[in-house]
Amino acid sequence: REMEGLEASGSSYICTLCDSSRAEASQNMVLHSITRCHEENLERYEIWRTNPFSESADELRDRVKGVSAKPFLETQPTLDALHCDIGNATEFYKIFQDEIGEVYEKVNPSREQRRSWRAALDKQLRNKMKLKPVMRMNGNYARKLMTMEAVEVVCELVPSEERQEALRELMRLYLQMKPVWRATCPAKECPDQLCRYSFNSQRFADLLSSTFKYRYNGKITNYLHKTLAHVPEIIERDGSIGAWASEGNESGNKLFRRFRKMNARQ
Ligand SMILES: [Zn+2]
Ligand SMILES: [Zn+2]
Repeated sequence: REMEGLEASGSSYICTLCDSSRAEASQNMVLHSITRCHEENLERYEIWRTNPFSESADELRDRVKGVSAKPFLETQPTLDALHCDIGNATEFYKIFQDEIGEVYEKVNPSREQRRSWRAALDKQLRNKMKLKPVMRMNGNYARKLMTMEAVEVVCELVPSEERQEALRELMRLYLQMKPVWRATCPAKECPDQLCRYSFNSQRFADLLSSTFKYRYNGKITNYLHKTLAHVPEIIERDGSIGAWASEGNESGNKLFRRFRKMNARQ
């Protein structure tokens, strides 16, 4: 996958850019520096592969900080804008279900309950937004789900007005942050949002760890972590995130090389 050599979800290490564990990343959502680089990931992969000190699996995993797949060549650890959208939309899709079911005041809801909230959400999105449920989140669905329109439609199923307002604010903040990682040149295309990114991500993180604490107590998804913690530093380093997005085609790779050359000359 696009994760530079990181173990699948479930690992306590969640990031290809820093050594943060899931627990640390959930307690401190915003303040992390990029400390990993491609060479180090490669070295760690070699250690994982060869186990030179004959360690146990747990010791070895801790030594290589979760790196157990071969990192991509020709890359700086970064984040992929499209997968960022998809990963975060997947998370919002779950938040919406939880809010419909008022999970914040429930203990261990049953499988059937969860299924019914998901069915209610799917039905509402289909009826009000012509958004058909998908087996697997994709860019198109993500684009439509991550809108104020979708939140309003979801809010019709959320009983508490206070929580409706929290959902609206969460989406408002997200939509303020999103152009920053989608833009080819955020400093030109969305300078205000770029300036406010750290403020917005802090506010977003505060909401997650207060109002939505039931989901983020000791855990956070890889993409939310990267979105909240690493975007400004990557933009400072590379100029953008959108420009490198591995939509996976040749023209993208050409663009990548051209931008890198341009950056090297500056
Ligand atoms: Zn990180
Ligand atoms: Zn490097």
